[in-house]
Amino acid sequence: MRYSALSILRNGFARQLGWTSAWRFPKPKAHYDVIIVGGGGHGLATAHYLAKEHGITNVAVLEKGYIGSGNVGRNTTIIRSNYLLPGNNPFYELSLKLWEGLEQDLNFNAMVSQRGVINLFHTDAQRDAYIRRGNAMRLHGVDAELLDRAKVQSMMPFMDFDNARFPIKGGLMQRRGGTVRHDAVAWGYARAADKRGVDIIQDCEVTGIRRENGRVVGVDTSQGFIGCNKLGLAAAGNSSRVAEMADLKLPIESHVLQAFVSEGLKPFLDTVVVYGAGHFYISQSDKGGLVFGGDIDGYNSYAQRGNLAIVEHVAEAGIAMIPALSRVRYLRSWGGVMDMSMDGSPIIDRTPIDNLYLNAGWCYGGFKATPASGFCFAHLLARGEPHPTTTAMRLDRFERGYAIDERGYGPQPNLH
Ligand SMILES: Cc1cc2nc3c(=O)[nH]c(=O)nc-3n(C[C@H](O)[C@H](O)[C@H](O)COP(=O)(O)OP(=O)(O)OC[C@H]3O[C@@H](n4cnc5c(N)ncnc54)[C@H](O)[C@@H]3O)c2cc1C
Repeated sequence: MRYSALSILRNGFARQLGWTSAWRFPKPKAHYDVIIVGGGGHGLATAHYLAKEHGITNVAVLEKGYIGSGNVGRNTTIIRSNYLLPGNNPFYELSLKLWEGLEQDLNFNAMVSQRGVINLFHTDAQRDAYIRRGNAMRLHGVDAELLDRAKVQSMMPFMDFDNARFPIKGGLMQRRGGTVRHDAVAWGYARAADKRGVDIIQDCEVTGIRRENGRVVGVDTSQGFIGCNKLGLAAAGNSSRVAEMADLKLPIESHVLQAFVSEGLKPFLDTVVVYGAGHFYISQSDKGGLVFGGDIDGYNSYAQRGNLAIVEHVAEAGIAMIPALSRVRYLRSWGGVMDMSMDGSPIIDRTPIDNLYLNAGWCYGGFKATPASGFCFAHLLARGEPHPTTTAMRLDRFERGYAIDERGYGPQPNLH
């Protein structure tokens, strides 16, 4: 069924009885050309682009929970392509371009909202760093704009510009950045992939990876053995656990990241703002709630829940930036498990095992990457060679000394 104004009208007159399920609930077949482990944004997008761009439709996405139960439905919904390094920038810009056409491509309202993203700076040195980043973006054909203090103040007068320690001196803005309704992305990709014949199999946990003569022949799952020609891993926070089933040790640590939502308020924040003197980012949802978050919890964990230290840190940073936040009640918080790579950048690559492919290391920035990640992983799975925008995102870059260290923190996964 195609979604359109006409279909809403038609179903309105037919007592809403004409709607069909957005995707099927098939039983697994004995064998697939490609199996993707993980029905998050990246796994589902990969399946969609495998079918759409490469005509490979004998594909299964295996999800241990339900679609949208992982990080794709837990993030703070920010999209942007304001990256400095050449190993990252073209990839994230490809992603932003795909976001811009996503709803038409999927025939699904994902509420893509290009409301802009502003990164605040608080010192002269930070301004220099942001000018450098903005120039690098422009050299890659990406929009970037430096805002002075007066401009930022005219846009968001409620912020504390004269904070004694962290005065706001301006910001780097990417107007094409913004937010996208996260779970709609999972649903939209699932529906579109299913329509092209992909089997989305929920409640199907992969428990083992079977190999014969060095090649992967399939996976053991909670619904039995399923064979495949190629296996793609897109398990985000559980990447290292799944890779271990094929005796692969990944350069990844898993950490929790928390997000928070406040009570509904009248609209006052019409962009995304990122604090530059601590880790804090905030936007206002269409329902009026403030959606915000900060740093990861510093210890390793596979638990989807966080701890109080980060709650305090996030509240402190938020109030330093917008003092009136101290009077806002927060409603909910939750956690997701982040696959933190050693340099803060992702891996989209083949593995040393012939027909086993890896999509991982998204840290806490993988939502914005969803379309390009799926597009490029599908390219790799279909053609056996990396997409031109992911040639640097190799698994062996740490051994070879070619890290993509966007934030310049060195091999400290808990800091990226
Ligand atoms: C609180 C929070 C805020 C964030 N904010 C942002 C943001 O604003 N912008 C941004 O760009 N990114 C953000 N991120 C990061 C982003 O959400 C992730 O990097 C991205 O969603 C990861 O890719 P995914 O969608 O495929 O992951 P997931 O949705 O987690 O998909 C992986 C799936 O694999 C499944 N799986 C795991 N093991 C198995 C198994 N053995 N068998 C079968 N299935 C398995 C899991 O159940 C899961 O559904 C945030 C994350 C969190 C938690």
